[in-house]
Amino acid sequence: MVDADQTFVIVGGGLAGAKAAETLREEGFTGRVILICDERDHPYERPPLSKGYLLGKAARDSVFVHEPAWYARHDVELHLGQTVDAVDRAARTVRFGEDGTTVRYDKLLLATGAEPRRLDIPGTDLAGVHHLRRLAHAERLKGVLTSLGRDNGHLVIAGAGWIGLEVAAAAREYGAEVTVVHRGPTPLHSVLGPELGQLFAELHREHGVRFHFGVTLTEITGQDGMVLAARTDDGEEHPAHAVLAAIGAAPRTALAEGAGLQLADPADGGGVLVDERLRTSDPDIYAAGDVASFPHGLFGTRLRVEHWANALNGGPAAARAMLGREELYDRVPYFFTDQYDLGMEYSGWAPPGSYDQVVIRGDAGKREFIAFWVREGRVLAGMNVNVWDVTDQIQRLIRSRAQVDTEALADPHVPLESLAS
Ligand SMILES: Cc1cc2nc3c(=O)[nH]c(=O)nc-3n(C[C@H](O)[C@H](O)[C@H](O)COP(=O)(O)OP(=O)(O)OC[C@H]3O[C@@H](n4cnc5c(N)ncnc54)[C@H](O)[C@@H]3O)c2cc1C
Repeated sequence: MVDADQTFVIVGGGLAGAKAAETLREEGFTGRVILICDERDHPYERPPLSKGYLLGKAARDSVFVHEPAWYARHDVELHLGQTVDAVDRAARTVRFGEDGTTVRYDKLLLATGAEPRRLDIPGTDLAGVHHLRRLAHAERLKGVLTSLGRDNGHLVIAGAGWIGLEVAAAAREYGAEVTVVHRGPTPLHSVLGPELGQLFAELHREHGVRFHFGVTLTEITGQDGMVLAARTDDGEEHPAHAVLAAIGAAPRTALAEGAGLQLADPADGGGVLVDERLRTSDPDIYAAGDVASFPHGLFGTRLRVEHWANALNGGPAAARAMLGREELYDRVPYFFTDQYDLGMEYSGWAPPGSYDQVVIRGDAGKREFIAFWVREGRVLAGMNVNVWDVTDQIQRLIRSRAQVDTEALADPHVPLESLAS
């Protein structure tokens, strides 16, 4: 069949879905491209929702992946505000919208992303309890932080992961009182381990954030929809006028599951199981972005990566695979964050238990350094903090699997390039 007779359907209009559509056109695909998303906004990028946009420093227009006219100009049929509720693999159709419209696909991409995990405790239905995933959430939260800052109000954040910490920083900039309660022993413990998690705790404490580690929320009390306090399992009651639940995200796998596609083991992070070409257990269906669990040759494990760069690169990789290109998806995971005056980039994968030492290159006290997570002399991950233009070198070092001399790794005078061979 020639391209022009084919229909490629993309479910999910986040970064992965929008970039996949762009790539199909860039690669010269002339068939129908249909992008369906349950959100009403055009595809947008989420990182500003907890940073510049939340702080009122980035304009609304700046978050969109493409300007609205781009879709028609590239002949991408966009269906916004429409949920896909079924995939019929035998008939090769997806069903979407309130009227149950069906459309036939030749290839299908699931780019359905993830959704915030909900607190399962009394009080979560109060109007003052918030989540942060969508533009509308950020807009609401911006209003809340503005009034908390103005009235010296208290925000309790459940979860000291990336989103919890970024919102803590934004809330402090607005002048709100901030308490973070976290199940782990340090912030970001499951990603960075204790050594570097501590750095983030210190950074936030210096800015007036209060932390309670090793505890979980048990109840949010309130009256007439308003939040009054949050209780933790150590018996403490924390004053609160609003609560943000930032306890992680769950991959949106319902569609894949309903279609009988294979899912990844929850112990491996769950998600839709794909191969190294992002193909699911059905050869005509692909998955990319937050929802996809792919085998990573370099780390010898399955990864499900909830980061911007994985959507940015995974969407296009899936699009090329849909076009039959033989390309392995093996990007080194990459993440960035900005909190107060600290900017950092993290490359690699080194959860606690996978590394045997952390090597610091530079001045950790001044917060200008690179941290390396090392196992048996090999670099698994690197995080540059307020040091820039080193991501390529760090990723080359990780990819090289070179046995490094840790003294040389710690020495800023030794070029990183010289260690990657
Ligand atoms: C507040 C916030 C801040 C972040 N900051 C950073 C950061 O600083 N750095 C970083 O690396 N990453 C960051 N991330 C993570 C990054 O934004 C995600 O990894 C990225 O958005 C994933 O893109 P995606 O396209 O896979 O999924 P999503 O962006 O979640 O898009 C999926 C879309 O599919 C839609 N959808 C799902 N199911 C259906 C269905 N059945 N029918 C129709 N539509 C459906 C969803 O509503 C959604 O619009 C942040 C995320 C958030 C929420």
